[in-house]
Amino acid sequence: MRIAISDCLLGKPVRYDGGAKPCPAVLSLAEDVEVVHVCPEAAAGLPVPRPPAEQRDGRVFLADGTDVTEAFAYGSGRCLAHVLAAGVLCAVLKARSPSCGAGEIYDGSHTGALVPGWGVFAARLRAAGIAVFTEEDVISAQPDPERPWALLVGSDGGRFAALPPEAPVMVIPQVSPRSFAAACARAQARGCGVWISNVAGCPRSSNPFISALMRGLAGDPRPEPARAEDLSGYSLVALVREVLRLL
Ligand code: SF4
Repeated sequence: MRIAISDCLLGKPVRYDGGAKPCPAVLSLAEDVEVVHVCPEAAAGLPVPRPPAEQRDGRVFLADGTDVTEAFAYGSGRCLAHVLAAGVLCAVLKARSPSCGAGEIYDGSHTGALVPGWGVFAARLRAAGIAVFTEEDVISAQPDPERPWALLVGSDGGRFAALPPEAPVMVIPQVSPRSFAAACARAQARGCGVWISNVAGCPRSSNPFISALMRGLAGDPRPEPARAEDLSGYSLVALVREVLRLL
């Protein structure tokens, strides 16, 4: 399973300020997947460090007003070709960047204000049919005993049924299509941050990034791993793989 990931999230010092934005959740994810490295601004040949850029009126400008639209388009095109050749499941890109932001970017005033929008590269990926997520999506998908995943299943829950309260997953078994809404309400009342169900034989997740992982891991023939009794030591990918065995 290949995922395109922003180099700065992986700790590579390629940002405009010469730094990186390493994200522990993304670094953990990167250990379990084949990473396709991307940095469209580096691919454009822009120097490190470089002045910050923001989008305005469909173009990209440095803080001093220099128009760098063509360079951003060139780097994004190079990275897009790389990603398409690699055949990725999806992309995890740096939130709010003028190249990589997904759904929200800085407004072009260089004041920190945000507007709905897409980074130049993220928009190209989306137009090519590749789902784009940010590090914030990966963080919100993490299994967490404080906000566990709720598994709404039509069975007795199998070996998940006996998990202790500190497990990052809780099972609500014997859910039918008729009792589905009530089961979702129970999961919300217990503070579950993510719910996953296979009610009516249709595996689905409330978290889009977990849904993408479920698609990528479906049919993965890996053997069953030895597992911790409470699953708390499981990575995101390992836990999705475990859940798919149940669904
Ligand atoms: S946000 Fe995107 S373009 Fe900017 S440094 Fe990170 S990977 Fe490169």
